[in-house]
Amino acid sequence: MKIGIPKEITVGETRVAVIPNMVPLYIKAGHEVVMEKNAGLASGYDDALYEKSGATLAISVEALYENSDIIIKVQPPKMHANGKHEAEMIKEGSMFIGYMAPVNNEELVSIFVKRKITSFSMEFIPRITRAQSMDTLSSMATLSGYKAVLIAANYLPKIFPLLMTAAGSIRPASVFILGAGVAGLQAIATARRLGANVEAFDPRKAVEEQVRSLGANFVEMAVPDEDMETKGGYAKAQSDAFLIAEQKAIGDRFHKTDVVITTAQIFGKTAPILITEEMVKKLNPGSVIVDLAAEQGGNCALTEAGKTVVKHGVTIIGATNLPATVGVHASQMYAKNINNLFKNLFQAEDASLDFEEDVTAGACITHDGEIKNELVKNSSVGKGA
Ligand code: NAD
Repeated sequence: MKIGIPKEITVGETRVAVIPNMVPLYIKAGHEVVMEKNAGLASGYDDALYEKSGATLAISVEALYENSDIIIKVQPPKMHANGKHEAEMIKEGSMFIGYMAPVNNEELVSIFVKRKITSFSMEFIPRITRAQSMDTLSSMATLSGYKAVLIAANYLPKIFPLLMTAAGSIRPASVFILGAGVAGLQAIATARRLGANVEAFDPRKAVEEQVRSLGANFVEMAVPDEDMETKGGYAKAQSDAFLIAEQKAIGDRFHKTDVVITTAQIFGKTAPILITEEMVKKLNPGSVIVDLAAEQGGNCALTEAGKTVVKHGVTIIGATNLPATVGVHASQMYAKNINNLFKNLFQAEDASLDFEEDVTAGACITHDGEIKNELVKNSSVGKGA
């Protein structure tokens, strides 16, 4: 197959779906890798490196799309500066792998249906042990958790560690992490490495031990006893009573909190509000909130996605696409996840797809002019497409 790798066109996106050292893996498996010129430049890989690895360069973006059997990207296809939608440039009946945000992207799904594109969405890789090596949600969340702490440290008018000096002693900063999933656990580890006192909460009791093993305090909250975890290890949506009790417990700690990092998400739903405006007022001036759920609506009521705002003396960062701020390692991890997925999808010698296989079935959104994924089919996107 001819694998086409376009340059990402989303503002601020630095990642690329294939890095040079992955190219030989595709070639060895009998494929060709064709790059758009400068596709890897923003993550530190110039065209010469790709050519040295065995990739070829397309003469134009249109030629790349027209001649590829499969397009692999990071961001969902969108309108290109050349006036054509990227999804319209993908060859009819061919394939796509990348993020799609399909439940919020009717335009993309309907173009894929109309043009009989077989598409695989990175958001829908099943969270099963066997698929961990393909799971970009996890690899990218790790980077987001790390970077969120550095951003908070940068904005906080205090230092993180305990210092005992001739100029007096400085108490460590207090960092409160809400949501101890992949991003939250990395945020805990990073804040601990910087010397902060760290506490965390997650409704999934299973993570309590992981939080403690990283040297953080797991905050006990007087919240209703609800069934909190799905079979896949995700949190279930909580009741209003739970969220009100949680907000109270969080707010009660805010007088002694310097930094709050929120990572709470419910798969496929708007993020729960954990910090109301009234609660923001309880934080000391100069405190910092980094909201990693900003793109899903935010865990703080005052968050503005993609913006840093100061409200009631508190800096609130609506963090979006933090992995792109560490493009070298983000591309390295993304490209490895993609190669593992590719190998899993095309296991058969004739490169035919096995729709009975878990990962193929789970991640496939459209195929042969139909929506295959039940969640997307039953969403407003499925009804409109
Ligand atoms: P996520 O990004 O969907 O959510 C982040 C965290 O927010 C979760 O830990 C969730 O419990 C928490 N949360 C939800 N509501 C909250 C609330 N009201 N208050 C505080 N926290 C709240 O989840 P994620 O980090 O991608 O993954 C969660 C878990 O899924 C992992 O810890 C793991 O157990 C499982 N997982 C399994 C695999 C696999 O086996 N392949 C891969 C990834 C994740």
